[in-house]
Amino acid sequence: MHFNRRRFIKSSLGAAALAGTQGCLSAAEPRKTTVPQLDKAAAAPILKLSSVRSPVKIASVELLRDNRNHFVRCRSTDGAVGIAVTNSRAAYLYPILQKLVIPYFIGKDARDLESLIDGVYVYKSNYKLANLALWCCVAWVEFSILDMLGKIEGKPVGHLLGGVVNKQITMYAASGNRNTTPRQEVEILKKHVDQGAHAVKFKVGGRMSNNADSMPGRSEGLIRIVRKALGDKVTIFADANGSYDCRKGTEIGKLIQDHGIDMFEEPCPWDHLEETKCVADALVIPVAGGEQETSLRRFRWMIHNNGLDIVQPDLHYNGGFIRAIRVARMAAEAGMSVVPHMSGGGTGYIEVLHFASCTGNIGAFHEYKGGIERTGQWCDPPLRFKDGAIKVPTGPGLGISEDADILKNAKPVE
Ligand SMILES: [Mg+2]
Repeated sequence: MHFNRRRFIKSSLGAAALAGTQGCLSAAEPRKTTVPQLDKAAAAPILKLSSVRSPVKIASVELLRDNRNHFVRCRSTDGAVGIAVTNSRAAYLYPILQKLVIPYFIGKDARDLESLIDGVYVYKSNYKLANLALWCCVAWVEFSILDMLGKIEGKPVGHLLGGVVNKQITMYAASGNRNTTPRQEVEILKKHVDQGAHAVKFKVGGRMSNNADSMPGRSEGLIRIVRKALGDKVTIFADANGSYDCRKGTEIGKLIQDHGIDMFEEPCPWDHLEETKCVADALVIPVAGGEQETSLRRFRWMIHNNGLDIVQPDLHYNGGFIRAIRVARMAAEAGMSVVPHMSGGGTGYIEVLHFASCTGNIGAFHEYKGGIERTGQWCDPPLRFKDGAIKVPTGPGLGISEDADILKNAKPVE
């Protein structure tokens, strides 16, 4: 199928499928791009800090932990403070954070954050470690600095990152099971719908498994019954976590689209760009991917070559908000939407909410893996997953209230 026809069909179907309840999806118009055009979009300035007129010199960045979470806290020489919650990978990535990332930021002006993200990549030859082990650590420092700058400005991070255009974000409930039977899984998905979700996602394949299923016949069995079981009003996504090659991914993808499922995520191993494009070219429904990707140039390749239809940078894995916005801006040039992958644990959904609040070409539904019951209390007002949506925190920075005192049991990690 030629580029224009495939993109036209996908964007039309994607817009119809994703129109959902939110109505904030920018209409996707398929557009052919040039590499210089994408580079220009990615490089455009992002931060709006016009009212912070004096330098915000970074005095310290520390890693702390309590019995559940790791935290990164930065302080300016003037006493401003920013706090971020890491994902669970800090438990083993902390030496990279402490030895190779934090030292670079000390003494720098936080207002230069965009160029600091580029600078830390070459500091001590960090580019040799380029992957999520490095970029997660950069993201955590970036989150803490943005939280600090937001508190100085008295605005949520979405304001600093271009302006809040969406105040409430519709979420899809993601089910991570691969050990359920099709009948058991459908019952779990139904519960999410009963609790208010307008969109759900389930797993197919065996996860990076060279075409093997997690249980014989599970994926095909589930695909055949899920639409009928959930009804026509629910948006349904399927995620293969890199289970297939192009041949099998296309076979499963066609079964998925024939059974009314709206999007197919990561059909092939995440770094096998050609195979992913091979599946995307063969299907009419949108193919999504990019959750492990940490190279802006490989994102550019996927967007320029229409290797997929929806890009999914992870705000932690890919190095923070600024780099994810650069991906989103390239995608916007091509008429693609962006649906960030959500790192599990910590406050991943809070970062996703802020990102979606300030990004024009976001998809209609965003990943939600639960966890809001406990950490949602840290915001004022507390966050709730209600009618399939969560309101974006409105407090300054990341929106975690100082009254929540989230570091009260935390100790520095030496
Ligand atoms: Mg996934």
